[in-house]
Amino acid sequence: MGSAASWHPRLDFVTDLFRLLPTEMDELMVRLGLPRYRADQILRALYHESPSSLADIRQLPAGLRARLEEEGYSIGSEAEVRRVMSGDGLTTKLLLEMAGGTLLETVCMQYPSSDGGHPRSTVCVSTQAGCAMGCVFCATGQMGFERNLQAEELVAQVVHLARILRARNEHVTNVVFMGMGEPLANYKETIRAVRLLTDPRAFGLGQRSITISTVGVISGIDRLAEEDLQVGLAISLHAPNDTLRRKLVPTANEHSVGDLLSAARRYFKKTGRRVTFEYAMIAGMNDSPEVAAELARVLRGSGAHVNLIPVNPTPGGYGRPPRRAVLEFERVLREAGVNCTIRVEKGTEISAACGQLRTTEGARSVAVDAIRLAGAPVL
Ligand code: SAH
Ligand code: SF4
Repeated sequence: MGSAASWHPRLDFVTDLFRLLPTEMDELMVRLGLPRYRADQILRALYHESPSSLADIRQLPAGLRARLEEEGYSIGSEAEVRRVMSGDGLTTKLLLEMAGGTLLETVCMQYPSSDGGHPRSTVCVSTQAGCAMGCVFCATGQMGFERNLQAEELVAQVVHLARILRARNEHVTNVVFMGMGEPLANYKETIRAVRLLTDPRAFGLGQRSITISTVGVISGIDRLAEEDLQVGLAISLHAPNDTLRRKLVPTANEHSVGDLLSAARRYFKKTGRRVTFEYAMIAGMNDSPEVAAELARVLRGSGAHVNLIPVNPTPGGYGRPPRRAVLEFERVLREAGVNCTIRVEKGTEISAACGQLRTTEGARSVAVDAIRLAGAPVL
């Protein structure tokens, strides 16, 4: 497992071309005395052909490829350590190794289209290796913080899965920043990745096809509202009051439930995009009808949407409530007029809660097909 001490020295002087925004690629060409169409050639190759090295960009003359290499440019840094697919083939989970040995997880969840066309294919991206927020039910939170990921490492996860999908004549339709880590605690790199993924000259996804999930970094939510972006926002609420929330999210001292609701209102006002509240349901902790009624009181009239997520059990002993408790919770919210859905469980035999695949890989304790991986995050 990587650490600051084992940071790969290459990163100090090599720039991944996947890091460069199209305008920066234009500037690079100007600096090298080359015409602008070379930038378009490189960008097209990067995002439509997924080359794994500069040598793979055959459209460029060999001399230019060598020049880029001399100038310290390279492509991609991820290596696929493990790929696990659900029996129905709709969920693919990857364990990727980045520079310095950092291990991270990326998931692709697919939903067949009703008209027989291309499926919706959502990639769930990790933004940090580990996480400092320490949520008690989260495998990533329990492993602690290792390092922030770079924008090109975020993009690499999407491009890597796009390459896998392309081989099946499918493509990435949505991206959610819901993998390992807290995206708004790695704000600049996350926003750079959003720009790369949405720029029509780069990956070219619609801004509305992207969702950022946060545990509640208020300054980040306000900053995001000020960007010229139309991305969706999900706030991981998990509790209707501060006493209960602090038990689940130990860092919640810095922001109260009230603060989060106000930030969500500001985000909606500024962007016109409604915020989703995620609610991880844990047996015996926050799953009673009384807590549902309190949540309904707190959210009523806000137009908020609640996504109930029965937790995937992690070693900490936080279990999933019985199905009837989840349905009852949903009923209480709905009857009080609060919009609510239960997160679809996908590929239960393979999909892990964020951080679980890496945890098992780190311990090398469980054979791949024996891993009891449960419910991947789904939006
Ligand atoms: N740090 C951000 C985004 C990554 S976590 C956040 O917390 O929102 C993405 C989602 O996965 C969060 O809603 C989180 O509560 C949920 N999650 C974490 N561990 C889980 C588990 N064991 N079971 C179900 N959902 C989990
Ligand atoms: Fe971090 Fe999100 Fe996991 Fe909490 S749930 S520890 S914020 S990744």
